[in-house]
Amino acid sequence: QNSMLFIRSFMIFFLTCITVKINLCFSSIPHSLNTLTLDGHFNFDEVHHAARDFGNICQFLPLAVLHPNSVSDIATTIKHIWEMGPDSKLTVAARGHAHSLQGQAQAHRGVVINMESLQGPKMQVYAGNSPYMDVSGGELWINILHESLKYGLAPKSWTDYLHLTVGGTLSNAGISGQAFRHGPQISNVHQLEVVTGKGEIINCSVKQNSDLFHSVLGGLGQFGIITRARISLEPAPDMVKWIRVLYSDFASFARDQEYLISAEKTFDYIEGFVIVNRTGLLNNWRSSFNPQDPVQASCFKSDGRTLYCLELAKYINTDEKDLVNQEVENSLSQLNFIPSTLFLSEVSYVQFLDRVHVSEVKLRSKGLWEVPHPWLNLLVPRSKIHDFAGKVFGNILTETSNGPILIYPLNKSKWDNRTSVVLPEEDIFYLVAFLSSAVPSSTGTDGLEHILTQNKRILGYCETARLGVKQYLPHHTKQEEWKSHFGPQWEAFVQRKSTYDPLAILAPGQRIFQKAI
Ligand code: FAD
Repeated sequence: QNSMLFIRSFMIFFLTCITVKINLCFSSIPHSLNTLTLDGHFNFDEVHHAARDFGNICQFLPLAVLHPNSVSDIATTIKHIWEMGPDSKLTVAARGHAHSLQGQAQAHRGVVINMESLQGPKMQVYAGNSPYMDVSGGELWINILHESLKYGLAPKSWTDYLHLTVGGTLSNAGISGQAFRHGPQISNVHQLEVVTGKGEIINCSVKQNSDLFHSVLGGLGQFGIITRARISLEPAPDMVKWIRVLYSDFASFARDQEYLISAEKTFDYIEGFVIVNRTGLLNNWRSSFNPQDPVQASCFKSDGRTLYCLELAKYINTDEKDLVNQEVENSLSQLNFIPSTLFLSEVSYVQFLDRVHVSEVKLRSKGLWEVPHPWLNLLVPRSKIHDFAGKVFGNILTETSNGPILIYPLNKSKWDNRTSVVLPEEDIFYLVAFLSSAVPSSTGTDGLEHILTQNKRILGYCETARLGVKQYLPHHTKQEEWKSHFGPQWEAFVQRKSTYDPLAILAPGQRIFQKAI
């Protein structure tokens, strides 16, 4: 009995020591960060906003938020944490515009770096034969668009929504309807400035420190914080011809999409979406398109069928308008859409690129923007897209859709296989994005639980049918799942982590590595 008592007392003493050590460790952190000499500042009180993101599902409270005024603020902070060694639990998350979905830009009891505070040096455009632009990693793409347009130029590759930061999209890939031709945004960057997990500031490109350059692109924030990027530009068009056509049959829809992304002179932007029911269409945030509801506008009777909408855009310069109109007519004549469903609109280039923002403003005014967003983004190999569509649109999602479902093919040849991004194994693969919004506290088919279960069913089907699908903007919670996500790339990913962030300080919200304790 005495020995039991002794063991119990020893355990209590031991646990108390650990708790005191952990508490001391955390309570001394704000003090230790406060001793750093910075151009910007730390905030230890107003940290709640850094525990939120667009997904509105996960909330991890940090200890401090850094508002950096210079790259050296970021380097000094990370170096300080690196020098604390593995005993400190402190991690660091770069927070771009926090439009991630599952806490990826959050750091539980760590430091969040508010990248949008990093304004300088100012954006700079270099016009000439191969124009480019230097921007901060915390810059929003919408600001980049407006600045480059002052020189008649613009980036080549976009995301559908522009109120995202450069560092945030380059950590994933950055894809939209232009990617079939130009590749994702990570294929349109010449150079980066990066702060590694050891606090070093390193310039990198294909020629200089190329391993770091490729690691960081699509690297989910694991290898360094992007503080500056050199983005490739092209001449910007004046106007955009924006076109939508409908299909009732998936096979013709996919055949036409694949024809368009392979043909030489077709469109400048190719996407598509699935219309599971009329509500899905009306709720569509892309309703900035005029006419807003193509089905109604044509009096086309869908009879409750699933429809597929091909969305195309052709860039126009006013002096070549006739020629472009002719090209559009030629390209459309090759397609097999339902003839009465051709909808054309002509808008300015900015209106076209910033189209989702129009819907954001509307949704915000109705309190519908800051709701849970259980999104699921998948990359599906071309050879499996028909099986996928049959099962998912024809079976799992027949009744409801809680937001737009995008679907469009991409050419793998436009992606650089040295980056960290993970793709399916075929030359053409489809992005299929289920962009659901959940009604807070609903227990029905529009509630979070229902949508998450539906997402699980889709993922479960992909797994059992061995479709070779990869998640885009991946979310996994176990290292086994990450291993399977990366497949043969896992070893290289781990090797890169041990080179650039050996203590696993960076981007803890991705839940790939845990900081050694
Ligand atoms: P955050 O959410 O702040 O960060 C995302 C991850 O990147 C985190 O792990 C963070 O730590 C890391 N990170 C942030 N900044 C840096 C940096 N400077 N250096 C290193 N790591 C960093 N994606 C597409 O590809 N195409 C689309 O069309 C598209 N449309 C979208 C529309 C909406 C409405 C939303 C909400 C998202 C969309 N996305 C799209 C997804 C979006 O590209 C990613 O979620 C992106 O990460 C968001 O950028 P952010 O600045 O908000 O990053």
